[in-house]
Amino acid sequence: MRSAAVALNHNQSASPHVGPGYHLMELPTKVLIGDGVISKLGDFVRDSAGEGRVVVASGSNVVSKVRRAVEAALPMEPTWVEVAAADIGNVDRVMAAAAGAACIIGVGGGKSVDVGKLAAFKLHIPFYSVPTSASHDGISSPFASLKGLDRPYSIMAKPPVGILADIDVIASAPRRLLASGCGDLVSKLTAVKDWELAHRITGEYYGGYSASLALMSANTVLDRSRTLGSFDKDSVRELVEALISTGVAAGIAGSSRPCSGSEHLFSHYLDVLAPESGLHGEKCGLGTIMMAKLHGIDWRRVRSALRNVGAPVEASQIGVADSLVIEALTKASTIRPDRYTILSRRRLTGKSAALLAKSTGVI
Ligand SMILES: [Zn+2]
Repeated sequence: MRSAAVALNHNQSASPHVGPGYHLMELPTKVLIGDGVISKLGDFVRDSAGEGRVVVASGSNVVSKVRRAVEAALPMEPTWVEVAAADIGNVDRVMAAAAGAACIIGVGGGKSVDVGKLAAFKLHIPFYSVPTSASHDGISSPFASLKGLDRPYSIMAKPPVGILADIDVIASAPRRLLASGCGDLVSKLTAVKDWELAHRITGEYYGGYSASLALMSANTVLDRSRTLGSFDKDSVRELVEALISTGVAAGIAGSSRPCSGSEHLFSHYLDVLAPESGLHGEKCGLGTIMMAKLHGIDWRRVRSALRNVGAPVEASQIGVADSLVIEALTKASTIRPDRYTILSRRRLTGKSAALLAKSTGVI
């Protein structure tokens, strides 16, 4: 079967659970969402923690923000590990602290969740995600995005066993982070288009159900950007549920396909060219505007939705020079040649890339 052969190469982990005509779906077991639920963290992790030791991976901002609430909620004294960056060095530090521990809890925006997730995966212990902002879909997905790997994109780990999303905490995150989460959500629009294209051209496995689920999350932003952009508690809850749902879509697909296409390749290439500029979801949002145009879908609608939620629609807003946008557009497909996208089909030259970026207002 043609699809089976490609199933192996679209799953980067070369998992024993992916093969001819089959793949494994791994999903979070439980999600606790609502106001003030951080106080229930102890009960939430009890199944895994038991009487054992718990390691909390968190960023420094988080420590000051929710440390007391986390400690009050847990029946045991946790071991705290401060995560300064999402890189392998920090994964090793968390792993060292978590040797013999019952589980790892990642409390934070992105870095601590990614680092904790991979450390738990390597140690074969449960991981709990406690997001304090909603800036990307890593809060629920099976993937970890880290620097210092042999490739500048996410690697397959396992989804969190549980996600505890305290809306009081997340709604108090900077609006920029929440707007970035909206950027990661709209990106599913072009990711799914790329997946459909790859299925048609290469025969790669395509999961219609997980694609629909991911699209539903993108449409949450496209259809209701004005209300969502108020980031009141109802909107934040909807945003978080949509992000959790896209992570679930990836779990059902058994790959990041429904969540990550050409717009993510563009974002990852900008990570290489301008590592300090912009947030993941912000770069994905810019990429989605341009990839939507390449796919012949309504890119103006993507652009206005991003603007309505306060996400950047021009590269200058995140301090990225025009020349870097053009370079990223022309080279993005090279960082992951196995992932067939619109950029594999429409090889952009410097000239056509500049035209695309200018015509969509990104530069
Ligand atoms: Zn993403």
